[in-house]
Amino acid sequence: MADLRIKEIAQLIAPLRVTPGASVRLAHDFDPGYRAGFVRKRDGEALLHRGVELLSEYQARLAAQQCHGLLVVLQALDAGGKDGTIKHVMSGVNPQGVTVHSFKVPSAAELGHDYLWRYACNLPGRGEIGIFNRSHYEEVLVVRVHPENLDRQRLPAGARDGGIWRRRFHEINDWERYLTDNGFRVVKMLLNISKDEQLRRFMKRLDRPDKNWKFSAADIKERQYWDDYQSAFSQMLSHTSTSWAPWYVIPADHKWFARICASAVIVAALSELDPQFPKLSKAARQELAVARKALEGEGDH
Ligand code: AMP
Ligand code: MG
Repeated sequence: MADLRIKEIAQLIAPLRVTPGASVRLAHDFDPGYRAGFVRKRDGEALLHRGVELLSEYQARLAAQQCHGLLVVLQALDAGGKDGTIKHVMSGVNPQGVTVHSFKVPSAAELGHDYLWRYACNLPGRGEIGIFNRSHYEEVLVVRVHPENLDRQRLPAGARDGGIWRRRFHEINDWERYLTDNGFRVVKMLLNISKDEQLRRFMKRLDRPDKNWKFSAADIKERQYWDDYQSAFSQMLSHTSTSWAPWYVIPADHKWFARICASAVIVAALSELDPQFPKLSKAARQELAVARKALEGEGDH
């Protein structure tokens, strides 16, 4: 049964995976409105439910085994649905085994270190799932689109010359390779929305009092850099989708479908890790037998 579900999940996410080495043009290659044949939200409900169920099962084993960790990287433009995706995908898991970290504009203390430092400080431990709401990829996205961010990083002369973005792509790939080799799986998702859908969501934030708090004038300003972001995303996907940590481009115009896909991508990664409950040694089993006897003996008094 589980195998069948895993097969179904693998089929669903295959078209979303960025082939390592492929040259990606985001707008051309990935449709934000894609729904894999599902028409309405209702059609996908069973699948979403199953995804959450499987995630819960795998998480329990991951936590018990204390060997692997899973890092989930979420990137998106404003209103791309990162927060909602986190809420839905994680709805079935034990909060003790999950950390979520949202990365904002770097603080003075963070700028006092190398650019990967603050991300390394917030990695999940063994047995844990860590979610990065924005991530080290901001270092080749917002920092690239607005180079004044790079000025604030106080790099030495020479470190900015010739091909800084290519160098960062290599450094990030190497860092993720290092994490993978040491038991930390990196799962990367870009929630891909269309410009029209972003407009609709911004309007909703203005129209609905319960969504007003989410509105930020800065988001409107960022929207003017739409094309620059699409280009930075395409570069990022082309250079940092690797065999050890491939990118998945999640079609995000339909929130319900994005959530199905995101949970499917995480479940697929966990199924590959295939964590197991630890098997007890003979001595430990004997200890359990002794404990059982002692507890059963209590009833005799
Ligand atoms: P939000 O996710 O809406 O709370 O916004 C966080 C803001 O922090 C966004 O505008 C990001 O672009 C910005 N941000 C995140 N990481 C960095 C970074 N490394 N350098 C500059 N700005 C960043
Ligand atoms: Mg925002």
